[in-house]
Amino acid sequence: MRAVKQLSAAFPQGWRTRFAPAPTGWLHLGHAVSALYVWGIARAFGGRVLLRVEDHDRGRARPEYERGIFDDLAWLGFEPDEVAPPQRERGAAYAAALAALEAAGLAYPCACTRREIGALSGDFFNEESRYPGTCRGRALDGAAHVARRVLMSDEMESFDDLRLGAQWQVPSSQCGDVLVRDRRGQWTYQFAVTVDDRDQAIDVVIRGEDLLSSTGRQLRLAQMIGRTEPPRYLHHPLIRSADGSKLSKSAGDTGIRELHAAGRTSGEVLGMAALAAGLVDTPRATTIAELPALFAR
Ligand code: GLU
Repeated sequence: MRAVKQLSAAFPQGWRTRFAPAPTGWLHLGHAVSALYVWGIARAFGGRVLLRVEDHDRGRARPEYERGIFDDLAWLGFEPDEVAPPQRERGAAYAAALAALEAAGLAYPCACTRREIGALSGDFFNEESRYPGTCRGRALDGAAHVARRVLMSDEMESFDDLRLGAQWQVPSSQCGDVLVRDRRGQWTYQFAVTVDDRDQAIDVVIRGEDLLSSTGRQLRLAQMIGRTEPPRYLHHPLIRSADGSKLSKSAGDTGIRELHAAGRTSGEVLGMAALAAGLVDTPRATTIAELPALFAR
C-alpha cells in the first residue's frame, strides 16, 4: 500500500465507497478480504460505506444468496452506513442513461450472438473477446434487437490507482464497443455499475484486482453518461487457492457460513481474512474495531 499520508490526501471530506457483491453464491473468504479493505480504509480515512447488491445477472441471482450477504456481513460485523437499492430496481435509471446515449448517437442495436463474436474476433481462448464492431453501421431495428452497444473511440484511458499507481488502458482494443444491454434485455455489469456509481455518488471504488481491466471502460462510460468528476480506484490483491487459482465458492473454498457453522468465531474469520490479505503476518483473531489500524499506520 502507498504511504498513509499519500493515501489520506486522496480522500475528500465525507467520501463514499461501496461494497458490491453479486448474489450468485455464498460469501467466501475472498469477499471477507474485500470487505476488510473497503471498511478498513473507509473507517481509517473518514469514508462512508454503501452496500449494493449487484443482481444484474437475473439468471444467476437468488434471494437466498442475497439474504446470505446481509447475514454473513452482519455476523462478521461489517455494518453499512447505507444500503443502495438492488440493481433489479434500477432499470429506469439504466434505461434513461441509455436513451441519452442513443439520442447523442453513441449507442446502437446489436444482433450478434456470443458465438459469432468469438468467431469474428478469431479468439475463443482469450479471457475476453473484442467486439469487432459488426453492427456499428447496420441501422438495425432497435425494437427487433434489444441488445445495445456503446461506441468506444480509440483513446487511451489513464488513471492513478491508489495502490498500484499509474495505469493505462485502451478499451477499444481490449473489448471494443461495450455491451450495455444483452440479447435477453438484461443490463450488463459494466453499464449497471457505472450508472450506479454515478447516481450513488461513489468517490472511491475499492475492489479486487480481477476488475482492474474493467476500469478504463468504466471511466469512459462514466464520462459518456455525463459524470464530470470520475471516481478514484483502489484495486486490492486477490487471495488465491493453494493451486494458484482465484478463490471461489464453486471451487469448494472457504464459505463464511461453513466457517460459522464449523464453530469459528467472527473474529477468527476476520483474522483469517487479514492474514490471507497479507495485512497481518501472524494468524490471530481480530475485530472490526482494529481494522483501521491495519491501514492507517
Ligand atoms: N459485483 C462485482 C463482484 O461481485 C463487484 C463489482 C465492483 O466492485 O465493481 O465481483
